[in-house]
Amino acid sequence: MDLVEFQGKQLFRRNGVPVPAEGTACRSVDEVEAAARQYIEDDGATAVMVKAQVKTGGRGKAGGVKYAPSVDDAREHAANILGLDIKGHTVNVVYVEPASDIAEEYYLSVMHDRVNKGELIICSREGGVEIEEVNRTNPQAVVKRQVTPAERQDGLPREVALEVVTEANFPEDVREEAADLLVALFAAYLAEDATLTEINPLIKTDDGRVIALDAKVTLDGNAAFRHDGYAEWQIEGIDNDDPLEAEAKSKGIQYVKLDGDVGVLGNGAGLVMATLDVVAQNGGRAANFLDVGGGASADAMAESLGLVLSDPNVKSVFVNIFGGITRGEEVANGIVEATQRLGEFPQKLVVRLDGTNAEEGRRILEEADLPSVVSEPTMQDAAAAAVRLANEG
Ligand code: GDP
Ligand code: MG
Repeated sequence: MDLVEFQGKQLFRRNGVPVPAEGTACRSVDEVEAAARQYIEDDGATAVMVKAQVKTGGRGKAGGVKYAPSVDDAREHAANILGLDIKGHTVNVVYVEPASDIAEEYYLSVMHDRVNKGELIICSREGGVEIEEVNRTNPQAVVKRQVTPAERQDGLPREVALEVVTEANFPEDVREEAADLLVALFAAYLAEDATLTEINPLIKTDDGRVIALDAKVTLDGNAAFRHDGYAEWQIEGIDNDDPLEAEAKSKGIQYVKLDGDVGVLGNGAGLVMATLDVVAQNGGRAANFLDVGGGASADAMAESLGLVLSDPNVKSVFVNIFGGITRGEEVANGIVEATQRLGEFPQKLVVRLDGTNAEEGRRILEEADLPSVVSEPTMQDAAAAAVRLANEG
């Protein structure tokens, strides 16, 4: 689950990672005006920042981050930013924060590294720009340090944090503070079950403090049960999960949206993964990962098919079932019932049934003579057919 910036800063603040003075999340120009008035006129801030709260990076470049030295400026920026579309995300919330004076911008993140099955710290003296860009043009300016299991267990040692910022060539006068911040950031990452905590830019202020000016935090969805389902971070007006993923979750279906056009549905996560591969080998792109699970009852089949078919990107669906405890005829009956329940839909279903009582299952499908169902004997044939139908559709 991704947090928006102001939530990320909240999470940092409660874990001792230094951030700017607290701001206000606003949903209207009037709310922005009130907040700006308080910070500038009452608290004596020289300016405020008006920042779009959307779950995507590059807000600044898209015109979603503005510096406002007066209340009127804040109003004007708010009017421009609220309702703005940033990479497909509509801005419904802006964060108004007392502006910081930037002396220098750095980069610092902790993330889960799947390849090495552990945590990775990335640190650079060059911040405020895309780190991928820095990595491409000036790779020696990007320091990567894997966290060892012992460090994960006992907390990141301060010497290690100091080594990282020193190697990244942070100026001497900020190294101690930056090292403390990194130790706190790593502790926050663990305590909150994050998979990413990224600060870009980490800044040195004019008066020499080191603070997180931006915050990108991803929390581990599999740890939600340890944090009351992350209820505290649900916020109206900010798109959360993909709506189909949310629906699947509520029905207990394992579903992940992908960006291709071949819907994929199978029983068992391993088989579904193999199905994604064989679709790719046939030149197609899967639209999703969906595991109907062990039972593959008519109900589960109908729910799952309904979900996949309601994705407007899906041009064909590959139903790949290997009967084990679930027998072929049950699956076939499930498909027949599901297609009847769902009524008309434009996509074709390519069904490959194998395993226990597969022949019986295929006979049922054949006899049902469903116009939307194509039966194929092997996984390879079915994949080829599904990809072809997706290309035609
Ligand atoms: P992003 O574009 O989504 O990464 O949003 P950021 O929060 O990183 O802001 C983009 C840029 O706006 C930063 O790199 C800064 O240069 C600038 N910026 C953000 N906050 C402040 C601030 O408080 N004061 C000043 N002077 N500039 C800021
Ligand atoms: Mg940023």
